[in-house]
Amino acid sequence: MDLMEYQAKDLFAKHGVPVLPGSVAETSEQARRTAEEIGGQVVVKAQVKTGGRGKAGGVKLAENPAESEEKAEAILGMDIKGHTVHRVLVTQASDIAEEYYVSYLLDRANRTFLAMASVEGGVEIEQLAVERPEALAKIPVDPLAGVDAAKAAEIADAAGFGADVRDQVIDVLQTLWTVFTSEDATLVEVNPLVKTPDGKIVALDGKVSLDENAEFRQEDHAAFEDKAAADPLEARAKEKNLNYVKLDGEVGIIGNGAGLVMSTLDVVAYAGEDFGGVKPANFLDIGGGASAEVMANGLEIILSDPAVKSVFVNVFGGITACDAVANGIVHAFDLLEKRGDDVSKPLVVRLDGNNADEGRRILSEFAASAADGVIEQVDTMDGAARRAAELAAAK
Ligand code: GDP
Ligand code: MN
Repeated sequence: MDLMEYQAKDLFAKHGVPVLPGSVAETSEQARRTAEEIGGQVVVKAQVKTGGRGKAGGVKLAENPAESEEKAEAILGMDIKGHTVHRVLVTQASDIAEEYYVSYLLDRANRTFLAMASVEGGVEIEQLAVERPEALAKIPVDPLAGVDAAKAAEIADAAGFGADVRDQVIDVLQTLWTVFTSEDATLVEVNPLVKTPDGKIVALDGKVSLDENAEFRQEDHAAFEDKAAADPLEARAKEKNLNYVKLDGEVGIIGNGAGLVMSTLDVVAYAGEDFGGVKPANFLDIGGGASAEVMANGLEIILSDPAVKSVFVNVFGGITACDAVANGIVHAFDLLEKRGDDVSKPLVVRLDGNNADEGRRILSEFAASAADGVIEQVDTMDGAARRAAELAAAK
């Protein structure tokens, strides 16, 4: 989960990374009041989950509360790289003597953590990395050893921080490492970290990505979620503990096992090319158990997606055998009908693996009696994908 700047700075403040006072506003009136409280010059900053806000006109200095209101008025509602601005951060302005860059990130390719630092911050770091790679120090960090004073000094010296700020930067690097590890982040970035004219180090911007796999031990992090921005289907799926991701297509997908579901997406997209570019509507992995209730919850989410024209249920029976899965689908239909949900969209089922014959028999019987031509079975994954794509295109 990516955080907005004001949320990142809240975490910085909590752990002691120096930031300036500020507060988030959703109206220009609120922005004026915040500027009054802060006093003096402020910066009004668009809160969107993308960089380059400054260049896009989403970061403006304001000399007084009235100007803060004006700037907020202009920034609120602005579109920055496809993100609409719903909030601004109003924060005390700082004079800048120098702009630096520091970050920690999970370096997946090298299976380690990485510290990056530069005394040429403020600019886009991707650009710096390409144009002047020698100006960006990259130091691997051993996850067990972490960043102590000696490691922080190694990073600061590799980047070439001046003697006047070296001690402060070493402090900030250690504190940022605490943010990174104790908040279970995969990225912590400060660009710019600035030196003020009186020689103080302050984080003027902040970017943090949190590892959602750590949610179970990070209760506070739920508050960072932007419920309004979340996809409503994804939000409902999450409430039901389903592994669901909304996609752009028309064929609803249910499968067991992330690997199988991913290949199902590929196969459906490939088959869909023959039917005018039909595509998968979602990713949904119902896991190994595939109980009737989970199947019903999954079907409910998928069938309630207005973009879905057909559904492909692709299950490979393993520990949970195909007959149990077939019974799960039958019960799921019962549950949905009792709830009054619409179950008239065509469903293509491919069952294979452990006890496939019995599973197929149960479903055929059900399809013939109850479900009124809605359920079709196709024995191969490719064939079933093709049929689901064809049905979606026909709607
Ligand atoms: P980004 O463009 O999305 O990365 O947003 P930043 O928060 O990094 O702001 C962009 C730029 O605005 C910074 O690199 C600074 O040069 C400038 N800026 C931000 N805050 C201040 C401030 O308090 N005072 C001054 N003078 N400039 C600021
Ligand atoms: Mn920045």
